[in-house]
Amino acid sequence: MRIATRAGRTVLVSPDSAMAVDLAKASGRMFGPDPRQVYDAWGELVRWHRAVAIDFARDGERFEFDELEAPSPDPRQVFAIGVNYRDHADESGIAYPEQPTVFTKFLGSFAGPAGDLELAGETVDWEAELVVVIGKAARNVAVEAAWSHVAGLTVGQDFSERTIQLAVPVPQFSLGKSFTGFAPQGPWLVTPDEVPDPDRLPISCAVNGGTVQSSSTEHLIFPVPALIAHLSSVLELFPGDVIFTGTPSGVGGARTPQRFLKDGDVVETTVEGVGTLRQVCVRAK
Ligand code: ZN
Repeated sequence: MRIATRAGRTVLVSPDSAMAVDLAKASGRMFGPDPRQVYDAWGELVRWHRAVAIDFARDGERFEFDELEAPSPDPRQVFAIGVNYRDHADESGIAYPEQPTVFTKFLGSFAGPAGDLELAGETVDWEAELVVVIGKAARNVAVEAAWSHVAGLTVGQDFSERTIQLAVPVPQFSLGKSFTGFAPQGPWLVTPDEVPDPDRLPISCAVNGGTVQSSSTEHLIFPVPALIAHLSSVLELFPGDVIFTGTPSGVGGARTPQRFLKDGDVVETTVEGVGTLRQVCVRAK
C-alpha cells in the first residue's frame, strides 16, 4: 500500500504512482481524511486495504508531486539520528557512537516532496535519509518485534545549515536543521511489504544531476529495528511519529574543498523502491 497527503487529506496512491484516490471517500469515512487519524487506526486500515480492491482507473485522479505534503504531516514527535553510517562518521572524523545520537527536526521545517528550498545561509548542506513512520504505539519494544510497529517508509532530506548546527561552544543540531522547508519528505509512504528488503534499500542524492551520495541502508550503524528498540526504551513512540534515520557519506561539508548549496541548484534524493524528492534552491529574500 502507498499513501500520500494531498490538500491535508490522506490519499491512496496507485502502484504505478500515477493516480490518487481519497481514502475517506474510498472507505466510506472509516479512515481519514485527517492523516493523524489514519495513523491512529493503522492496523484497521491495513486489514481493510487487504480486503478491498481499489479501482484507480475508475475512482482515481491524476496529481502533481508539488501538490503533495509529507506523508505524516502532523506527527506528535520527530526523531532524527546523527552519525548513523560508518562512512559518514569517517568523513566527519567522529568515532562510531555506542548509542544513537538523537536530535529533532521541528515541525515547522516539514515540507512536501517537491518545491523550492529557501537557502537560509551560505553553508546549507544535503543529507539523503530513509524516513520511517510509526504505525503502532511502541514502548520497550524488542529489536525482533520492531518492524511490526512501522507503518511505512518514505524519503527524507535532512537539510542542514552547518554554521548554525556546529556553532561552538555547545553545538545544537536541531535548530540549524529546522529552517523552513528543511525537512521535505515523500512523495508517499510505502509499506515495508512493498520493497524487496526493507533493511537493504539503495539511497542516493544528486545535485544538478551529479551523484553526491550513494549507499544502502544495510550500512546503518543502528538499523531501523535498533532505533525503534532504543527510542522506545526511553519513551513511548506514537502512531504517525517520524524518524529520520541518518545520512551516508558524501555531504558537502565533508568534501575538500567544501561544497554548499547555491541559488538554482536542484537536489534530488532517492530511496530505491520508495521514491524521489526534488528541491530547487533559491536564495532567501
Ligand atoms: Zn541527518
